[in-house]
Amino acid sequence: MSARKAEAVVIGGGAAGMMAALTAARRGKNVILVEHEKFCGKKLRITGKGRCNVCNDCDVRTFLKNVPGNAKFLYSALNRFSPADTMAFFESLGVPLKTERGNRVFPVSDNAHDIARALESAMKRAGVKIVYGNAEEIVTDGGAVSAVRCADGLIECRSAVIATGGASYPLTGSTGDGYRMARALGHTVTPLRPSLVPLESDDPDCAEMQGFSLKNVTLTLLDRNGKACYSELGEMMFTHFGVTGPLVLSASAHMRDDSLAPYEIVIDLKPGLDEKKLDARLLRDFEKYKNRDYANALSDLAGRTMIPVLIRRSGIPGDTKVNAVTREQRQTLLRLLKAFRVSIRGPRPVAEAIVTSGGVSVREIDPRSMESKLVRGLFFAGEILDVDAYTGGFNLQIAWSTGHMAGENI
Ligand SMILES: Cc1cc2nc3c(=O)[nH]c(=O)nc-3n(C[C@H](O)[C@H](O)[C@H](O)COP(=O)(O)OP(=O)(O)OC[C@H]3O[C@@H](n4cnc5c(N)ncnc54)[C@H](O)[C@@H]3O)c2cc1C
Repeated sequence: MSARKAEAVVIGGGAAGMMAALTAARRGKNVILVEHEKFCGKKLRITGKGRCNVCNDCDVRTFLKNVPGNAKFLYSALNRFSPADTMAFFESLGVPLKTERGNRVFPVSDNAHDIARALESAMKRAGVKIVYGNAEEIVTDGGAVSAVRCADGLIECRSAVIATGGASYPLTGSTGDGYRMARALGHTVTPLRPSLVPLESDDPDCAEMQGFSLKNVTLTLLDRNGKACYSELGEMMFTHFGVTGPLVLSASAHMRDDSLAPYEIVIDLKPGLDEKKLDARLLRDFEKYKNRDYANALSDLAGRTMIPVLIRRSGIPGDTKVNAVTREQRQTLLRLLKAFRVSIRGPRPVAEAIVTSGGVSVREIDPRSMESKLVRGLFFAGEILDVDAYTGGFNLQIAWSTGHMAGENI
């Protein structure tokens, strides 16, 4: 079969790859995008629980505070294509957006497919050719890209963008191929770790309470020295392996230093009440249920699933009559409600993480172009890079900004 030709081949039709291909094609480049799933944007379509938190409507300084490692590397890309540019871009493609709590931006339709479809149509209009198949290797000649080898043959090109995503949710297509391709070209891949991921605990109370959710609680993550690394009000859930839910995923992004393990989470079950107010509340409840057993007096304070655990942890025998509970015992219960502790063994595997932390070392990439410093004509964009952010639309913005920058510099 004779080799196909393009000025640029973009490997990966996710958020970053589609943005890179579109940007380059709009500049008049002849672009082929290779995607090994049956359609583009498989992960993009499940983001934000199917609603797609497209970006965060904030300035670049605030944005960079939400990138815990290698934030500086993104400075140029974000200034060139900022969250405001992302919003204007999707509106210009006919996708109206709205901004919710925490400056999180979503399509008005609450439908992630609208974002993916808008990108696909724009690529089509700009003349991007999509090839569905597996890209296997980048071929170089004299230190410069000369072709991309796909399962069905070579595509000759002078530029290639590796936008194959991370190692998370491999069923969406991000199988980690790009790391192998990058290593084969001499690039360093820093250790891959899960981030925004559920956490495992050896505490049997978690399994006992599996499926039980907590709303309006404050979760604080403590390192081994008892230092708080994260604290936030929100929701979480117990599971058979430990804990999950928005608060837990966010907390996991702060567990970046293994030397500070083991970590522990402390849940304030009554964050709206300080100790004095909570004590008054306990006294009121105990007065209301004064003739009951202690085990039957907690129903106004905690969910049914949690009550047996609270009773056990408080050390107060369940058959104690409420009017016989001592002040000291009440204080023990109060402390438990303000600080319910769960030991953390570690994160779930990277395949279950929302994002992959670690990746192609940013030291070997020019932040003003996304071009490799090792191979001419080789570019990187998106989650494959050793950058990741907290939740709130920041990770997709990294894909948009780095994809745009690669597309501009091909
Ligand atoms: C459940 C979930 C929800 C999320 N929600 C949000 C959210 O609301 N907001 C947010 O900001 N971030 C969210 N994220 C993170 C965000 O989706 C990713 O950071 C982003 O998709 C990364 O984009 P990417 O283009 O780098 O990689 P991907 O989107 O993973 O795209 C990579 C593409 O490359 C293709 N590919 C890989 N290898 C090859 C190969 N060898 N040949 C051809 N094609 C290949 C893959 O099939 C895939 O289509 C979420 C992630 C998950 C898992």
